[in-house]
Amino acid sequence: MTERPMLEVEHASVSFGGLRALKDVSIQAQECRVTALIGPNGAGKSTLLGAVSGFTRLDEGRVTFRGQDITGMRPHEGIGVGLARTFQDLEVMQRLTVAENVLLGFPHQPAERISRLLFTPWVANREHRRNVQRTVDLLHHVGLLERADTLASDLSYGEQKLLVVARLLATGADMLMLDEPGAGLPDVNLHQIGSVLREAVADGKTVLLVDHNMDLIMNYADHVTVLHHGQVIASGTPAQIQADQSVIDVYFSRSHTTEEATDAS
Ligand code: ADP
Ligand code: MG
Repeated sequence: MTERPMLEVEHASVSFGGLRALKDVSIQAQECRVTALIGPNGAGKSTLLGAVSGFTRLDEGRVTFRGQDITGMRPHEGIGVGLARTFQDLEVMQRLTVAENVLLGFPHQPAERISRLLFTPWVANREHRRNVQRTVDLLHHVGLLERADTLASDLSYGEQKLLVVARLLATGADMLMLDEPGAGLPDVNLHQIGSVLREAVADGKTVLLVDHNMDLIMNYADHVTVLHHGQVIASGTPAQIQADQSVIDVYFSRSHTTEEATDAS
């Protein structure tokens, strides 16, 4: 008997003009697990996250979340169904403080509903106070509490990546998708992110983690799927993936992992 996956992508294909970024890709993410998606640059990882979160249209295939068909969902509908993601590029508001950046993550900001502010301001105030308390908890959780009132632009790159994770958690979504949270991070921040993701999973979250960093994947993922040239070439536990000859051929044996390099060689 297998657990029903929280997220299922079946036979997904995406083309950009003549380029087939995803070719018949199927992946699953089990509930309360960290599922990693790895592969060289240009393999189609971000395209897959885009297809799940509604940013990229599928040419073919289906996305199911908690048994519900969400194929073709619009990006703004993600939080409503319980899906949240981060982007590969840092999306920190540089001129806001650390705490303000996290506050932006909460859904249903009081100001979104002007009528509530006008007619029941005490409810909006109560929500705001609750979000501030949650922000303190989240910043403590990712180790940035003492930086709460610092401008985001004054954080190190690693701290900004942690801030993005705190804001992702603020969404309250059950399914968290991260696009290269570990890219370019020093080890200390990498392990902080890994631990925060493990704690999130222990807390009932489901994680889909796209990353290049083998330390992060091998230490913190439960299951790994490998994409190469838009196709799944392997799927298994971190140990199985490390021992998989096709993965070793395209991935581990390369000191640099760009698809361009693959093509040129
Ligand atoms: P990864 O995240 O694994 O590095 P991507 O999903 O970003 O790979 O890209 C997969 C392929 O699709 C690459 O060849 C990339 O250049 C191409 N691609 C991605 N997004 C677009 C787009 N919006 N328009 C055209 N080509 C794109
Ligand atoms: Mg990418």
